[in-house]
Amino acid sequence: METKSKVLIVEDEKNIAMLLSFNLKRAGFDTDTAEDGEAGLKKALTGQYAIVLLDIMLPKLDGFAVLRGIRMRSDVPVIMVTARDDEKDKIMGLDNGADDYITKPFSMSEVIARIRANIRRSRDELVNGGKEKGGILSVRGLSIDPERYIARRDDVELELSKKEYDLLYFLMENAGKPFSREELLDRVWGYGDFIGDAGTVDVTVSRLRKKLEADPAAPEYLFTKRGVGYYIQ
Ligand code: CA
Repeated sequence: METKSKVLIVEDEKNIAMLLSFNLKRAGFDTDTAEDGEAGLKKALTGQYAIVLLDIMLPKLDGFAVLRGIRMRSDVPVIMVTARDDEKDKIMGLDNGADDYITKPFSMSEVIARIRANIRRSRDELVNGGKEKGGILSVRGLSIDPERYIARRDDVELELSKKEYDLLYFLMENAGKPFSREELLDRVWGYGDFIGDAGTVDVTVSRLRKKLEADPAAPEYLFTKRGVGYYIQ
């Protein structure tokens, strides 16, 4: 029998922590909680968790500081849980190495679906050793080396977040073919039909363009196909 995946809930609001813990247990997970950032970081680094749910506004260390601390030493998937629904927070979280974010108030079924999707993705990557075994892909001056997890433009290494890298790899692997935001959520983020937030794709595309394109307003690589979606050419 497979052991249960353990979820670390870092949340200072006791009611929310209890609600999450109760529902996650009912959905078949083990849970553990930490009530402040310091305790959360310490626990997250023990290596016993399949995933971390990380609140942003926390005593002692805020969620961003906790995330940076985790990323220095661990690849455990992290979902940021934020009460502040503005894009800066989302982008900051994703840039600092968060795998996903959820905005309060959230629905429990969405939280559970996202947790499952992120755990599944991280397992796939472990099993497949960074998921792709293929060789270097390139489109003109743009290249990506899946073995070393490096993307370059004109021989300059691009500093991409994990999701930016995954998106770029997927589009380059399928160069010339446009994908809708929903398809990208499914194929790159691993979400099912009902948990999609297509804005996530737009935010990531916009970040990627800033790093990739000489002029993000006039892309040379990552194009928008109007009414369809995005593609690399
Ligand atoms: Ca809080």
